[in-house]
Amino acid sequence: MVFRITFLGTGGGRYTTMYQTRSTGGMLIEHSGGKYLHIDPGPGALTQMNRIHYDLSKTDSLVVSHAHPDHYSDAESVIEGMTMGGWKRRGRLYGSPTVIDGEGTLGPCISNYHKKKLEAVITLKPGMVVDIDGLRTDICASDHSDHTNIGFRFDTSRGVVSYISDTNYSEDIARQYIGSRILILPVTTPDNLRIPFHLCTEDAVSFIDCVKPELAVFIHLGIVMIKSGPEAQAEETEKRTGIRTVAARDLDILNVDDSISISRAATYSGEWIPDSSP
Ligand SMILES: [Zn+2]
Ligand SMILES: [Zn+2]
Repeated sequence: MVFRITFLGTGGGRYTTMYQTRSTGGMLIEHSGGKYLHIDPGPGALTQMNRIHYDLSKTDSLVVSHAHPDHYSDAESVIEGMTMGGWKRRGRLYGSPTVIDGEGTLGPCISNYHKKKLEAVITLKPGMVVDIDGLRTDICASDHSDHTNIGFRFDTSRGVVSYISDTNYSEDIARQYIGSRILILPVTTPDNLRIPFHLCTEDAVSFIDCVKPELAVFIHLGIVMIKSGPEAQAEETEKRTGIRTVAARDLDILNVDDSISISRAATYSGEWIPDSSP
């Protein structure tokens, strides 16, 4: 069965997001025989989907890990896509408590209007196991400035693929992902340039050493990381850990089968209107 991730955006952090140096559109996952799951649609998600001619009315579920704009800002428009402009009650939204209900100064990220258009709205907390359209997903804890942020272990027929959302490094956080075949890490800053509540390359090395996946993928690249060259950071990480490590680029497609391959999505220019449009 196909398990394929399109990285709509590989940027993250304030400056990459506000300048859109790289897109911050999150990941689009095809799984379980033609189901589509969108994770963390920050700014750029809609533009990128248009560029690859992906009709977002095909999206079955939406996951938002936490209440920071690089992870949620396009989410309401994705819901409009899932529900055919709000005309059809359809789709599921999964999110942390701040995303769904808000807490303190964070969130809620989705209006009541949009929540009512969906088939189901599910609040996620660490330790939960959910079935997302046939994909078993374990919810993991993180250590982030939105303390309700969560990480994900997707149990695919080709092994566990994990997405670690924004977090500080600690061995306790990393150990949750042992057994993963693929580890998708938000490596916001290069070398040992640590900023609070995020991973730098040095932390990624510790993370990978602990989990020992078959492949590590860097995403959520901050502006200083992009300037310093994410490919070189990934190469250095691979040298130190002995684990294949790549820095993803916008619109890379990760295909998970017996072997793992990375290719580029075709992009199109000009106007595109999908068949499902009125
Ligand atoms: Zn972020
Ligand atoms: Zn964040």
